[in-house]
Amino acid sequence: MRRPLRVMKFGGTSVGDAACVAKVVEIIRTASRESDVVVVVSAMSGVTNKLIDAGTKSEAGDGASVELFFKGLRERHDVVVNTLIHSAAQRSRLSRKMAVLLQEGERLCQGTTLLRELTPRARDSISSLGERLSAPLVAAALTECGVASQAIEATELIQTDSCHGAADPCMDVTRERCDAHLRPLLRKGLVPVVTGFIGATAGGVLTTLGRGGSDYSATILGAALDADEILIWTDVDGMLTADPRLVPGACTIAEISYREAAELAHFGAKVLHPKTLRALIHCGIPLWIRNTFAPEQSGTKITPAGPPNGRGIRGLTCISDVAMITVGGPGIVGVPDVLGRTFATTAAVRANVLLISQSSSQNDICLVVSSSVAKSTVEALRREFAHDLAHEKVEHVTLDPTVAIVTVVGRNMRGSGIVGRTFGALGRSGVNVIAIALGSSECNLSFVVSREDMKDALVTTHREFQLGCTEYTGANVTVSCDSDTPNADNA
Ligand code: ADP
Ligand code: ASP
Ligand code: MG
Repeated sequence: MRRPLRVMKFGGTSVGDAACVAKVVEIIRTASRESDVVVVVSAMSGVTNKLIDAGTKSEAGDGASVELFFKGLRERHDVVVNTLIHSAAQRSRLSRKMAVLLQEGERLCQGTTLLRELTPRARDSISSLGERLSAPLVAAALTECGVASQAIEATELIQTDSCHGAADPCMDVTRERCDAHLRPLLRKGLVPVVTGFIGATAGGVLTTLGRGGSDYSATILGAALDADEILIWTDVDGMLTADPRLVPGACTIAEISYREAAELAHFGAKVLHPKTLRALIHCGIPLWIRNTFAPEQSGTKITPAGPPNGRGIRGLTCISDVAMITVGGPGIVGVPDVLGRTFATTAAVRANVLLISQSSSQNDICLVVSSSVAKSTVEALRREFAHDLAHEKVEHVTLDPTVAIVTVVGRNMRGSGIVGRTFGALGRSGVNVIAIALGSSECNLSFVVSREDMKDALVTTHREFQLGCTEYTGANVTVSCDSDTPNADNA
């Protein structure tokens, strides 16, 4: 009988120290008894942040801090090696491998210091080091416990475009490479341990998939191998009804559709990289989110259609690292094609617009972009409209950097009274809503609030829909149509 194939990804906290790696080994060992397993690992928690910081410091010429960082990095990995790897031969092989990688990282930083320039390509190579260190470490820990294993770099498997820092896979080549390099290992009974987060261009240049991108690595490999299941092992019990750091009563969602999970991820649920589900759209492989530190919990199952019954709210998310730009005021009336020119301008500066709303009479447009591109976007918009509005005394493009987006995600929200209940509850709690966007897909209601109101907005909405009172199973948190609800026709 064919053994099922599972791709299991372990995040940064799951491989954060020797005790965590030991838990990971146990989970893989149990799974490998009944299925073929491909493992994907992140860097140890915090390592990628520090690597990026080392790149930035190298560019600034701060060689001393960089040297100190590499010393700390070596020590942190050595502690895990010394705790988990007892065979002398394995330990010296692994130590040699790690020394080569660390030397490569230091050289890249030295080169950056010499040039005083951190290119996107160098930044990717430096930030990839954490995964390139953790994969051989986990493979050795598995072998030590009797699970035959081999580390493999995703640069050999995942071919990407050359968009450094946010690369996307070329699936046809990736599929061929997985067939050529991973299947023979599986046939030999080995557990391949693949570096998350990275790939390489057709020319072999290392790329990264974006921060938090190891989730995406797992679904890319799962899709390429036609896996039966993909499991993302992390530090919470699954996908929750809200970020547990902001809403203490958040509950695990038992099952959710690809679409809803993708909306939650896109609007800030850090537990999944926003692109994770893209790789699965055409193959429908179930994706699980499970807790490495509570493997007895069943976690969240993400399926193409979600649970069969139920309309209503699945969860809430927020993004605080955003700014709101308004193009408007009386002077804008009569300016030709404001909408078209606004979005041509945001596209030209490559600003990802997260939310838009437009009022009808004065052409006021409000758009929310991430904070990192807010200044350049405002400057570009001011240039675009400068000629039309030269006679205006009032500034027509303004920026508010103190806002946040809160998003309510659900299914078939049309006519369910959700909009009315949301804003009724927020009104009673004194949360002022600045702008609103309700997608025609009817699975996403987003609104802008001041950043200091964000937590209150989440807690209030979570309470209003009783998302925390019982575990969501697809039926018990359904929101019914309530014609008495204030503002119910906002939808
Ligand atoms: P990993 O290192 O395993 O990839 P991440 O830190 O990237 O883990 O993602 C897990 C974290 O995401 C959780 O610890 C939690 O704080 C945060 N999070 C935010 N929103 C949600 C949500 N809706 N459900 C679960 N976790 C969430
Ligand atoms: N280590 C990478 C990051 O921190 C990728 C990941 O953990 O998913 O962004
Ligand atoms: Mg993550």
